[in-house]
Amino acid sequence: MRALAKMRPGAGLELVERPEPEAGDWEVKVRVQRAGLCGTDLHLQQWDDWAASQMNLPQTIGHEFYGEIVAVGREVKELVPGDKVSGEGHIVCGYCRNCRAGRRHQCVRTVGLGVNTDGAFADYVVLPVENVWKHPDWVDPELGALFDPLGNATHTTLQWPLVGEDVLVTGAGPIGVMATAIAKHAGARHVVVTDLSPERLALAERAGADLTVNPRTTRLREAQAQLGMREGFDVGLEMSGAPAAVAEMIDNMNHGGKIAMLGLPASGYAVNWGRIITHMLTVKGIYGREMFETWYLMTSILSTSPQLKDAVRSVVTHRFAAEDWEDAFATARSGQCGKVILDWS
Ligand code: NAD
Ligand code: ZN
Repeated sequence: MRALAKMRPGAGLELVERPEPEAGDWEVKVRVQRAGLCGTDLHLQQWDDWAASQMNLPQTIGHEFYGEIVAVGREVKELVPGDKVSGEGHIVCGYCRNCRAGRRHQCVRTVGLGVNTDGAFADYVVLPVENVWKHPDWVDPELGALFDPLGNATHTTLQWPLVGEDVLVTGAGPIGVMATAIAKHAGARHVVVTDLSPERLALAERAGADLTVNPRTTRLREAQAQLGMREGFDVGLEMSGAPAAVAEMIDNMNHGGKIAMLGLPASGYAVNWGRIITHMLTVKGIYGREMFETWYLMTSILSTSPQLKDAVRSVVTHRFAAEDWEDAFATARSGQCGKVILDWS
C-alpha cells in the first residue's frame, strides 16, 4: 500500500510502498479516504528533538482521518465492513487508575497513533476497536477527517457553561476557528478572537466571531471598550501556544474567570502568577478529546446545527492528492491556510 512515512532518522518523509497492516482480534482495518495535516505532522517531518524522542522507525505518520472499515478482528462485534469511521488517535492502556475510573483521556500511558505507532497517512490504517468512532450517513469524508481537531475545539470550548458569557479565543488556527463557532452555538454573548494573521481573523469572523483583534495593532482593552465590556472576559480559550497571547489573556479576564489552555508552547515561559492568584483565575490544561463524551457531543451538536456544520467545514482551505503531499506540507507550513486535507481515495 501507499504510505507517507519516515523511513530513517532525520528531516523529511517519503511516500513509499509498505505492507498492508492486518487487524488483530480486537482491531479494525480502515481504508483511509481523507486525512488532515496538523502541527504535529510538521514536527515529525522536520525531526526536531521532540519528534526524535517519539517515533519508532520506520513509521507511517498521520492521525486525523476518515475512512471505511474493510476488515474487523475476530472479537469485534459492534462494527462491520462498510462502516464509515474516524479514529481517536490516543490509544490508552485501559489499566492505569484514570483508565479504570473511566477518565481515559487522562491515561498515564497514552500512545499516539501516527506519532508513536503507524498512522493514517496511508491507504490502510489499523487501530483498536475501542478507538473507532462510527459516523452517521450525513458525515461526509471531509467533515469526518475534521473530527480529531474538532474534538480538541469541542473539549476545550465546552469546559464550562457559556450561556451569556464573554469569551476570548486566542489563536484563529483551525481549532480556534471551530472553537469560535462552538462558543456561539453554546450561547456565548461576545466571542472575541485574536490572531496575528488577517486571513485567519477573517476565517474566525466567518465562523461567528463578534470581534476579531490583531494584537499587532489593537489591545484587548480597546476591544472590551468597543463591546461595552467593563469587567473582563469570563472564559478564555487559549489556542495559539503563544506566551504573548497568554499574558494578554490573563490581563483581560474578569475576577474568577476560567481559562482552558489547549495551545502548546514551544518551551516554558513566565506567567503573571500574582494576577492569577489575586484575580482567582482557574487555569486548566486540555489534552486531546474526552473518550468518548467529546465524540458524542461533536456528532450531536453538528446534527442539530447546519450553521455550525458550515462553520466547521469552512476551516478547510486546501485539498491535495496524497501524491502531492510535499505541496500539502509546504502549504501547511506557510501558515497561509486553514486546514489542509490529503485525499487518499
Ligand atoms: P495553528 O498553529 O494553526 O494556530 C495557532 C494560531 O495562533 C495561528 O493562527 C497563529 O497565527 C496564532 N498566533 C500566534 N501568535 C499569536 C498571538 N500572539 N496572539 C494570537 N494568536 C497568535 O494551530 P491549530 O491546529 O489551530 O492548534 C491550536 C493550538 O493547539 C496549537 O498550539 C497546537 O499545537 C495546539 N494543540 C493542542 C492539542 C492538545 O491536545 N493540547 C491538540 C491539538 C493542537
Ligand atoms: Zn491508562
